[in-house]
Amino acid sequence: VKNKKEKIYECEVKRLFMKNGQRVWKWKRVLASEVIRHEKIRCYCCRGQVRLHKKKIPTGPSDHVEHFRRIDSEGCPLGCYFLGVKLHSTLMID
Ligand SMILES: [Zn+2]
Repeated sequence: VKNKKEKIYECEVKRLFMKNGQRVWKWKRVLASEVIRHEKIRCYCCRGQVRLHKKKIPTGPSDHVEHFRRIDSEGCPLGCYFLGVKLHSTLMID
Protein backbone atom coordinates (compact mmCIF):
# COMPACT_ATOMS: atom_id res chain seq x y z
CA VAL A 1 0.00 0.00 0.00
CA LYS A 2 1.58 3.21 -1.13
CA ASN A 3 0.67 6.78 -0.23
CA LYS A 4 -1.13 6.43 3.10
CA LYS A 5 0.75 4.86 5.96
CA GLU A 6 -0.93 1.75 7.21
CA LYS A 7 0.03 0.42 10.62
CA ILE A 8 -1.35 -2.87 11.87
CA TYR A 9 0.40 -4.07 15.01
CA GLU A 10 -0.69 -7.71 14.94
CA CYS A 11 -0.66 -10.37 12.24
CA GLU A 12 -0.85 -14.12 11.85
CA VAL A 13 2.30 -16.17 11.57
CA LYS A 14 2.60 -19.79 10.45
CA ARG A 15 4.45 -21.94 12.92
CA LEU A 16 4.98 -25.60 13.71
CA PHE A 17 3.02 -27.08 16.59
CA MET A 18 2.79 -30.59 18.01
CA LYS A 19 -0.62 -32.24 17.83
CA ASN A 20 -1.06 -35.91 18.81
CA GLY A 21 2.64 -36.45 18.28
CA GLN A 22 2.50 -34.93 14.80
CA ARG A 23 4.06 -31.68 13.73
CA VAL A 24 1.49 -29.44 12.11
CA TRP A 25 1.73 -25.95 10.65
CA LYS A 26 -0.82 -23.61 12.21
CA TRP A 27 -1.57 -19.92 11.99
CA LYS A 28 -1.15 -18.00 15.23
CA ARG A 29 -1.97 -14.36 15.90
CA VAL A 30 1.02 -12.51 17.30
CA LEU A 31 2.36 -9.00 17.69
CA ALA A 32 4.31 -7.78 14.67
CA SER A 33 7.27 -7.37 17.04
CA GLU A 34 7.22 -11.15 17.72
CA VAL A 35 7.58 -12.10 14.06
CA ILE A 36 10.96 -13.47 13.09
CA ARG A 37 12.25 -12.48 9.69
CA HIS A 38 11.38 -14.90 6.87
CA GLU A 39 8.41 -16.37 8.73
CA LYS A 40 5.25 -16.70 6.67
CA ILE A 41 2.75 -14.02 7.67
CA ARG A 42 -0.70 -12.80 6.66
CA CYS A 43 -3.38 -10.36 7.79
CA TYR A 44 -5.40 -11.95 10.62
CA CYS A 45 -8.58 -10.37 9.33
CA CYS A 46 -8.67 -10.76 5.51
CA ARG A 47 -5.84 -13.34 5.28
CA GLY A 48 -4.21 -11.26 2.60
CA GLN A 49 -0.51 -10.74 2.07
CA VAL A 50 1.13 -8.23 4.38
CA ARG A 51 4.56 -6.67 4.49
CA LEU A 52 6.49 -6.57 7.76
CA HIS A 53 8.14 -3.35 8.88
CA LYS A 54 10.60 -3.62 11.71
CA LYS A 55 11.50 -0.59 13.76
CA LYS A 56 14.71 0.86 12.39
CA ILE A 57 15.42 3.92 14.46
CA PRO A 58 14.46 4.63 18.10
CA THR A 59 12.08 7.44 17.15
CA GLY A 60 10.55 5.55 14.22
CA PRO A 61 7.23 3.67 14.16
CA SER A 62 6.95 0.42 16.15
CA ASP A 63 7.07 -2.93 14.38
CA HIS A 64 3.97 -3.28 12.23
CA VAL A 65 2.58 -4.75 9.03
CA GLU A 66 0.69 -3.27 6.11
CA HIS A 67 -1.34 -4.85 3.32
CA PHE A 68 0.71 -5.70 0.27
CA ARG A 69 -2.19 -4.96 -2.09
CA ARG A 70 -4.41 -1.93 -2.05
CA ILE A 71 -7.43 -4.09 -2.95
CA ASP A 72 -6.95 -6.09 0.26
CA SER A 73 -6.77 -2.89 2.27
CA GLU A 74 -10.05 -1.76 0.69
CA GLY A 75 -11.85 -4.94 1.78
CA CYS A 76 -10.34 -5.26 5.26
CA PRO A 77 -11.56 -3.41 8.39
CA LEU A 78 -7.89 -3.11 9.43
CA GLY A 79 -6.98 -1.39 6.18
CA CYS A 80 -6.49 2.35 5.91
CA TYR A 81 -8.39 2.25 2.58
CA PHE A 82 -11.32 0.20 3.96
CA LEU A 83 -14.46 0.90 1.93
CA GLY A 84 -16.91 -0.49 4.51
CA VAL A 85 -17.56 -4.01 3.25
CA LYS A 86 -15.47 -6.78 4.77
CA LEU A 87 -14.12 -9.25 2.20
CA HIS A 88 -11.59 -12.02 2.30
CA SER A 89 -8.56 -11.33 0.19
CA THR A 90 -8.84 -12.61 -3.37
CA LEU A 91 -5.37 -14.03 -2.85
CA MET A 92 -5.61 -15.55 0.60
CA ILE A 93 -2.40 -16.87 2.09
CA ASP A 94 -2.72 -20.37 3.52
ZN1 LIG B 1 -6.46 -7.42 6.06
